[in-house]
Amino acid sequence: MRRIVLLGASGSIGSSTLEVLSQHPQQFTLVGFSVYHNVEAAVKIHQKYPDAIVCLKDLVASQRFKEAFPSAHVVYDELGLLTLATLEQCDLLVNALVGFAGLKPTLAAIKAGKPVALANKETLVAAGQLVQSYLNKYQGTMIPIDSEHSAIYQCLIGSQSPFKKIILTASGGSFRDKTREQLKDVTVEEALNHPNWSMGAKITIDSATMMNKAFEILEARWLFNARKDQIDVWMHRQSIVHSLVEFEDRAVMAQLGTPDMKVPIQFALTTPLRMPLQTDCLTVDMCRNLTFEPIDFNRFPILKLAFDLLSEVDSKAAVMNGANEVAVAAFLRGTCRFVDIDQFVIDVVAKADHFAIHTYEDALRADQLGRQLMLDALKGVNV
Ligand code: MG
Repeated sequence: MRRIVLLGASGSIGSSTLEVLSQHPQQFTLVGFSVYHNVEAAVKIHQKYPDAIVCLKDLVASQRFKEAFPSAHVVYDELGLLTLATLEQCDLLVNALVGFAGLKPTLAAIKAGKPVALANKETLVAAGQLVQSYLNKYQGTMIPIDSEHSAIYQCLIGSQSPFKKIILTASGGSFRDKTREQLKDVTVEEALNHPNWSMGAKITIDSATMMNKAFEILEARWLFNARKDQIDVWMHRQSIVHSLVEFEDRAVMAQLGTPDMKVPIQFALTTPLRMPLQTDCLTVDMCRNLTFEPIDFNRFPILKLAFDLLSEVDSKAAVMNGANEVAVAAFLRGTCRFVDIDQFVIDVVAKADHFAIHTYEDALRADQLGRQLMLDALKGVNV
């Protein structure tokens, strides 16, 4: 029985993780979970796993929960997340938090010797080198949940030789066929309507701006120790080929499947074994019209920025992430336009000082710099 801690249990990845766990009650149990402010979700999960420690957003929420369920073990806030990430009885941490908030629990878990199944890509964007140094220092294990990186991870299993190239696929998001001119008037509702994947709001907006792919380029660098010239991105509208790996002998491996995050989640829990999973089956018939198109870097300038950042080891990627979090929240609130998001992030990254990230505090400083510069940039916006 593997004992799982799940951070971000009420989000899209969190819900899919819970579905995977409930398909294998003999193999997995939940010993702790966090839901931020979604108390309704916490109640449901608590009823199913009454012994699992619950982490809520703040003291008030945790006291209310405790009143309703006196036998529950409740923690809260960042300290609660860190308690869960380092829990004695945890065999694997699934980090499905959104944003920079995921970094500290990741570092704490690695230090405590817990393997981390990572869905929180912002962790690697903001502090990839720091995470890598923790993994080396504490001989940690990190397994990607992001579908593209899970695909690469799966392709690399069994190979004793280095890869030549990683080819990430990109659906292109909700607005892949719109010009930048046409993006000026798009609405939040349109942006949240992803053609293939059903996901949370933040990542769906990040997919529409292609910020998500920019993050995945940086994520690939740290997960697979890939150089700039070893990473490529192609538009693949169907989201069936989740990514490809080219080897020295010119063999190319790919992992295919329907767009269902339960597959990479379960593989992160069972790797290198494969277990049955109830989900839609990919048929050959569904692969008859797979297409791949080169990326237009003028249309998606944020991808050019991501490639530029690959050759730098500094705070700029953390600035990019912090600035983006603020811009996406502003767009969802209706206080900036969709086209402002990536343009402002590019401007902020250009403007920001850069420095090396050796500690969590360095990463936090860069994150806050990105947030502040974006708040300043947004002041001038009239929607
Ligand atoms: Mg992805």
